[in-house]
Amino acid sequence: MKILVINCGSSSLKYQVIDSETEHVLAKGLCERIGIDGVLTYQPAGQDKIKYEAAMPAHRQAVELVLKQLTDPENGVLTSIDEIDAVGHRMVHGGEKFACSTLLNDEVLQTVEELNDLAPLHNPPTLVGVRACKEILPDTPMVGVFDTAFHQTMEPKAFIYALPYEYYEKYAMRRYGFHGTSHRFVAQRTAELMGKKPEDIKVIVCHLGNGASISAVNGGKCVETSMGLTPLEGLIMGTRSGDIDPTCIEYIAHKENISMEETFEIINKKSGVLGISGVSSDFRDLEEAANNGNKRAALALDAFCHHVTKYIGSYVAVMNGVDAIVFTAGIGENAPGVRAQVMENFKYLGIEIDPVNDSIHGDEQMISTADSKVKVFVVPTNEELAICRDTVEIVTKEIVTETVKKVLGK
Ligand code: ADP
Repeated sequence: MKILVINCGSSSLKYQVIDSETEHVLAKGLCERIGIDGVLTYQPAGQDKIKYEAAMPAHRQAVELVLKQLTDPENGVLTSIDEIDAVGHRMVHGGEKFACSTLLNDEVLQTVEELNDLAPLHNPPTLVGVRACKEILPDTPMVGVFDTAFHQTMEPKAFIYALPYEYYEKYAMRRYGFHGTSHRFVAQRTAELMGKKPEDIKVIVCHLGNGASISAVNGGKCVETSMGLTPLEGLIMGTRSGDIDPTCIEYIAHKENISMEETFEIINKKSGVLGISGVSSDFRDLEEAANNGNKRAALALDAFCHHVTKYIGSYVAVMNGVDAIVFTAGIGENAPGVRAQVMENFKYLGIEIDPVNDSIHGDEQMISTADSKVKVFVVPTNEELAICRDTVEIVTKEIVTETVKKVLGK
């Protein structure tokens, strides 16, 4: 099958076309500045990137342009849009309604819309993207893959906030967790690398990118994760504060004489390692600055690693043990120094990091020594491939169900 994978933001749309048999990416790209002016990037496999300006007043035009580019007689990878067997959409917040990926029919879209309050910045643009695709490709099945779904196996004791219980009942306030598609993909791949069944191992996945989260996966099921009602909770991130005393928010607003909205802008966009260092949210810049003697950049890196260490330690306790710790995403895959620093404090678990760690940038590799009791891996995440696989599985099931119904004359 040829699957179009779409990840829609408020002014952007990332896309990939994947051949599900070979799992090769046939083409990928990005629409930016939707609703402003519009820039399209397109890269067919093995060829150079093309980038040009094109009017995108709304997501519909962005989808149309992507499809036009994919079927371009000169450098397209499809002869017609009919070659697209299904579209897989990255959805952010599925609340408690979606514990797995699902076919996006009108009823499901209505339910997602009802969850908009939980993710006012993320869910509405995703829905706009799905609806634009449905209008242009009305007969192509669409599947939604939710960032929150994998974490739905958490027990109430892990997801409940210690607030008046009625807020959970009335407003669905609880820990949901995000990056679930990545945590699931990486945990499954780790089991494969260890030659074990997911049911038989305890894994801690450290998804360390600009947004960062950790999850504890016991027997293939998520039992804890660091992000909460929104992606703001948990680790120190590129520009997000992660865990802070909630009183800080009121205190900043009061002292700086700014509104709640402005305060949250600071907590989301001007905090994290950027806030501590005053240098950058990018770890490459921070490492360079720290090496050149910048103390605040060094502090930001230290604080980041300290928090990752703290979460891993607590998740070992939550699972009563661990078989593998895995690093993924931009920092996890590319920053050997961060991995080594975090693992320093787990010698008590019998973890020894192999010097091979220093040379691993984005490759799949075990970075603990062969006799290390707990294994440590770098596993590159691939959320698009995970979305493609789910889409194929759901569409195939649907085809089988429809065929059986026809055969039975229902
Ligand atoms: P997101 O998807 O949340 O935007 P990514 O997973 O793409 O984030 O990670 C981006 C981050 O990865 C960058 O901000 C940077 O901090 C880090 N990163 C990327 N490459 C390197 C590298 N070679 N060394 C250190 N950090 C890196």
